[in-house]
Amino acid sequence: MAAPKRFFVEYISEEVLLTGEELRHARSVLRLDAGDEVTLLDGSGVEYSAVIARSEKASMILHVTGRRLSDREPKADAYLLIGALKGDKTELVVQKAVELGVNRIGVFSSRYCAAYLNENKLERLNKVAREAAKQCMRAVAPKVAYYDNFAAALESADEYKNKLFACEFLPAGSGEIAEGDSYAIVVGSEGGFTEEEYHAAESLGFCGVSLGKRILRAETAAIALLSVVMYRAGELQ
Ligand code: SAM
Repeated sequence: MAAPKRFFVEYISEEVLLTGEELRHARSVLRLDAGDEVTLLDGSGVEYSAVIARSEKASMILHVTGRRLSDREPKADAYLLIGALKGDKTELVVQKAVELGVNRIGVFSSRYCAAYLNENKLERLNKVAREAAKQCMRAVAPKVAYYDNFAAALESADEYKNKLFACEFLPAGSGEIAEGDSYAIVVGSEGGFTEEEYHAAESLGFCGVSLGKRILRAETAAIALLSVVMYRAGELQ
């Protein structure tokens, strides 16, 4: 039997009003109605079971019937920083990063970045993160933030223990990915990094890591490196 459909809500109380995009999805796409069971998520990591008490065109009232702590949230704390990519490739990276269990995503602009982010694109990325979280049965949707300068992006990772900088111009075999539970991962955009950007990252505690002799597309590098990191963190077992 399919799991109850999942919806993010701002606040949880005994009676919840579903609104906006989630209401439209519940009524028009999923055709849910009074009596149907759903799961509500407020981003705390708790899953709330609920029943639709009343369904009208402009609103849907749900009654919460139970709660449980999600067992699908990662124990490791992983933060992915990726250069803004062209087309919908940044969306692909956000989607896969959420499925792989990151807790936080930063998109940055750097010297060779050919793409940019505006408010609408950033909101779209956060919507992609919410949809990916629901699809993979997570209870928390990682937030996506934008840094219009590279130094600010690097500084935002200060608290993480393992700081990894995927650097395409390091010799193959450079760097290592230690076991751990706190990682910040930096991957460049299509244009890659300058030597100065690499050294700036090193000065902030980042270790360069090579992903082998081949030059990977940015989206491939991000997904590959994140997969190795999450495996080393025990999240893909
Ligand atoms: N413009 C660069 C060039 O032509 O050499 C390629 C950049 S690559 C498309 C985008 C990003 O993926 C890089 O900045 C790096 O973060 C990562 N990447 C790709 N291949 C890599 C490799 N072999 N080792 C480490 N990082 C790699």
